[in-house]
Amino acid sequence: MTGMFIELTDHLRCTVGHDESFLVLLPGTMDGRRVVTGTLGCPVCGRVVELTDGVADFGSGMPAADATTLTADAVHAFLGLGGPGGYVALAGAATALASELVARQPGVRLVLINPPIGTPDSPEASVLRAGIFPLNSSSMRGVVLGRDLAVDSRWAADGVRAVLPGLRIVAEGGEPPGGVEVLARTDGCWVGRRTS
Ligand SMILES: [Zn+2]
Repeated sequence: MTGMFIELTDHLRCTVGHDESFLVLLPGTMDGRRVVTGTLGCPVCGRVVELTDGVADFGSGMPAADATTLTADAVHAFLGLGGPGGYVALAGAATALASELVARQPGVRLVLINPPIGTPDSPEASVLRAGIFPLNSSSMRGVVLGRDLAVDSRWAADGVRAVLPGLRIVAEGGEPPGGVEVLARTDGCWVGRRTS
């Protein structure tokens, strides 16, 4: 049995359109420090998100259907993470790189947003499903957006905001939003460093 890292609760945000708010976890079934079932409540708007089989589903998430053209080696180099600790979010098609990234970056936990249907959570990676980027500002050591979500300007902007200042986002297409210094850009990918 696995479940969502309980510490990840601190980084989740309500996806309803109000000021960023933390969520309150009411755990049901736990497996050590992992939440298998439970609910996440928003103290601002009262919304409740269900956590089932270790997966928090905020609603309206489209499971990734396309393959990614990014490689784990490239993403690992682009993110430029140092040592272990913290979280990196992979969204949409980029979630396919999870197991290879875990091997290259031991000790960094992954958050998989909208992976393909049937993707289970694992000891290294928690699964979230959401139509709006469900992570707080300045909560991630890195964010990687697959093509399916990188082309959505709102996901790109929210993805940038979720990165800690000075750290990086990799996007498989789309346009870099404000608040990011573009470090590299090719036909199918841009790499940015959050500036503010
Ligand atoms: Zn709310």
